[in-house]
Amino acid sequence: MRRSLSSASPMSGSDASAEPNTDKLFTAEHEAMRSTLRRIIEQDINPYVDEWEAKEIFPAKQLFKKLGNAGLLGVTRPVEYGGLGLDYSYSVALAEEVRQSELRRRAHGDRHSRSHELKEQFLRPSIAGDLVACLGVSEPTAGSDVASIKTTARRDGDDLVINGSKMWITSGMQARLDVPSSQHRGVDLPGVQRARKIRKIGIVCTARTLLSYSSRMSEYQPATLLASLVRGFIYQMLQFQEERLFGAAANLLGLELIIQETAEYAPQSLRQSLLDFQTVHFRLAELLTEVELLRSMVYRATAKYVAGNDVTMLASMAKTQSWPACTRSERTAGLQYWGGMGFTDEVRVSRFYRDGRLLSIGAGADEVMLSIICKYMRTLPKPPKK
Ligand SMILES: Cc1cc2nc3c(=O)[nH]c(=O)nc-3n(C[C@H](O)[C@H](O)[C@H](O)COP(=O)(O)OP(=O)(O)OC[C@H]3O[C@@H](n4cnc5c(N)ncnc54)[C@H](O)[C@@H]3O)c2cc1C
Repeated sequence: MRRSLSSASPMSGSDASAEPNTDKLFTAEHEAMRSTLRRIIEQDINPYVDEWEAKEIFPAKQLFKKLGNAGLLGVTRPVEYGGLGLDYSYSVALAEEVRQSELRRRAHGDRHSRSHELKEQFLRPSIAGDLVACLGVSEPTAGSDVASIKTTARRDGDDLVINGSKMWITSGMQARLDVPSSQHRGVDLPGVQRARKIRKIGIVCTARTLLSYSSRMSEYQPATLLASLVRGFIYQMLQFQEERLFGAAANLLGLELIIQETAEYAPQSLRQSLLDFQTVHFRLAELLTEVELLRSMVYRATAKYVAGNDVTMLASMAKTQSWPACTRSERTAGLQYWGGMGFTDEVRVSRFYRDGRLLSIGAGADEVMLSIICKYMRTLPKPPKK
């Protein structure tokens, strides 16, 4: 069921004259990069996932170093800082390969950073895999409504005074660099308190943290700010386009794999093959159709993004479609057709279902995506005047 990337043709059969040509989205270079990542996933990630899940943490530093050595971190980042300087289609190609592995943290804060020194200090080691970073946007009282975050960072002479807290921060237990989107800027924070680790029902081997700040940092001169003052919020909004596209792409191959595994699953308790039931082979066909629809949307959004367009609406649409595809895969390929086995954590389908639940919540809940789409449609009512 693995598809040839160069044959991906979501636009074929339609008038693509006004659209970027998605037929040529992926090349032999994309495929070579994917096979490097696939090899690392097969050798260095998948065999250890059970162990990492039992410990509820994965060795981020070692793993990121491996990925950095393979040139897989910062593929779209500037060559002068160790990146590959490629366009976003390469990130999407890698996202597809991610499958059940949690490989979603990338180098942050680079593109808009002001100085060469900061890029040397933070971007280069992130791309090399020497620096584990995390991104602090959400707070205990601000998640979907990012604009209502309360954490502040203000200058007091040469000092920077930071107050507030951040919640759900992926890699927060292991990261050295934290980039809080306060009102609204980024800074390296050694004084951060890791208030507690949060236990979750899915993606259990990556730790989420509640972080709290109440610090005066005299050693941090304004030059350490990753972004110009008050621009951090805008940069974060731009970053969400990529994160949502990446999230939608990261599902595709996983969905194909569970369709394939379900088609091959032969429960000993049945006297006939699952595929002998018409309802089963029809549902799997419907599900694969849905995956292809999602893939078409992701590829089209990627091609438009690479061509320099704003794809906020398309990326939001693709993200809202990821969880429905997972839900249907759960009803069909997942927990249902696997019987009791589907309710164990010994098979890929149940893990996929469990971890996929985050898709309609993280990086903006479905309702937030729908509000964004409505904004672009100009159908979102204005909030009542106070
Ligand atoms: C595993 C995991 C990892 C995460 N990693 C990070 C990270 O690394 N960095 C980071 O900054 N954040 C991270 N997050 C936070 C994540 O982005 C937030 O959980 C998400 O934005 C939702 O915010 P919230 O949890 O505060 O829910 P809330 O904002 O309280 O929303 C609760 C629910 O209300 C509904 N809702 C919200 N707004 C609307 C609306 N306008 N209209 C209708 N209904 C609405 C939705 O159903 C939503 O799910 C992570 C979360 C999880 C669970």
